[in-house]
Amino acid sequence: MFENLSERLGGVFDRLTKQGALSEDDVKTALREVRVALLEADVSLPVARDFVKKIQDQATGQAVTKSVTPGQQVVKIVHDALIDVLQGEGEPGALKVDNPPAPILMVGLQGSGKTTTTGKLAKRLKEKDGKRVLMASLDVYRPAAMDQLAVLGAQIGVDTLPIVPGQKPVDIAKRAKQQATMGGYDVYMLDTAGRLHIDEVLMDEVEQVRNVVNPRETLLVVDGLTGQVAVEVAEEFDAKVGISGVVLTRMDGDGRGGAALSMRAVTGKPIKYVGLGEKMDALETFEPERIAGRILGMGDIVALVEKAQETIEAEQAERMMKRFQKGQFNMNDLKMQLEQMLKMGGMEGIMGMMPGMGKMAKQVQEAGFDDSILKRQIALIQSMTKKERANPQLLQASRKKRIAAGAGMEVSDLNKLLKMHRQMADMMKKMGKMGKGGMLKQAMK
Ligand code: GDP
Repeated sequence: MFENLSERLGGVFDRLTKQGALSEDDVKTALREVRVALLEADVSLPVARDFVKKIQDQATGQAVTKSVTPGQQVVKIVHDALIDVLQGEGEPGALKVDNPPAPILMVGLQGSGKTTTTGKLAKRLKEKDGKRVLMASLDVYRPAAMDQLAVLGAQIGVDTLPIVPGQKPVDIAKRAKQQATMGGYDVYMLDTAGRLHIDEVLMDEVEQVRNVVNPRETLLVVDGLTGQVAVEVAEEFDAKVGISGVVLTRMDGDGRGGAALSMRAVTGKPIKYVGLGEKMDALETFEPERIAGRILGMGDIVALVEKAQETIEAEQAERMMKRFQKGQFNMNDLKMQLEQMLKMGGMEGIMGMMPGMGKMAKQVQEAGFDDSILKRQIALIQSMTKKERANPQLLQASRKKRIAAGAGMEVSDLNKLLKMHRQMADMMKKMGKMGKGGMLKQAMK
């Protein structure tokens, strides 16, 4: 049985007291456990080793979020790094099937789920993308395999190339290409023969077929439960025929999906889909988040850390609100508010969001009030010293002159800003008095 990683790490970190940041020793201890967990999840040793080394630096010194343990924090860092490795380029699941008829070559060992996956993908292309698909089996060694594809085709309503006994794989491929072109198909899928082990004859055959049809996609189907073997298979197929992506099957099983990580790390090829059962619709786009959670066996921790980070932001807002209620609203607060307004799309954006304010937003704009005013106001505040920002009442004539000049503006501009600040401070105070459920609290939500 797997001891899940959070339990392992929990044990390690219970002994440690809470500190502000992760120390190098904390991280080292935690990563030892992470490495064991990766190996248990079937990640290959060199990949696990490299991966752990890479995040060592990343994690050390990172601030520990309040209300989670250092162990949980490390798990979150590991989780994010896993997603980073697992994520391929481009949109997951996207296949190059433009320029009809687009050939898709399906390769892999016997029993990996190649024929099943061919059917699943054809169904998906037909139903999700509205493509006309033709399937052809090149498995001349097992007539049963050809029949299997024909049966699947009938079941999902996708055409299969008529079987001509005695034809060679390359000739079947040529016939499929011809039929797809003449029949106006968008895609034709070639289900190649598999062997129990990789051998030269099989590879040569796949290579010949590849040269004839020049596939837009060459998808390797591998059994996700076979771990290290899956990675070796991927390396060999890629070296010999060049693959464009991987489909991991049997991800509905007990395996923990470590093969996905090794596969990405070793071949660099994107995992496009995962097979999740025997039925024709049990195929899903590969989602790095899900696999990462599974490899670590702990999706809940990640959610917890995210929640804790949100809580901290909420706590900051709460503290600010308490100060406002006491009438403490200085220039730093005003600056934050102005910056927030800019972020939310400026005056116009904010008013546009409030019911009934759309018209007013237009008037404001026509009156010449635009975002550049917000920016100028922020510049004025930036031109103040720390002391002045905290105590705006310090601002007498000479200081005002210096500040305005520093921001390239007139003293009258600064006076307008100060007036606005006074009005806002008054308003904050009044709203604060309305109590905990008051307007300010509503407004901060
Ligand atoms: P091929 O020899 O590579 O063409 O493999 P098949 O497509 O004939 O599949 C072999 C067996 O694996 C069949 O019984 C399939 O139903 C089963 N299979 C294929 N994909 C999956 C999957 O994602 N999950 C599960 N549980 N079984 C699968």
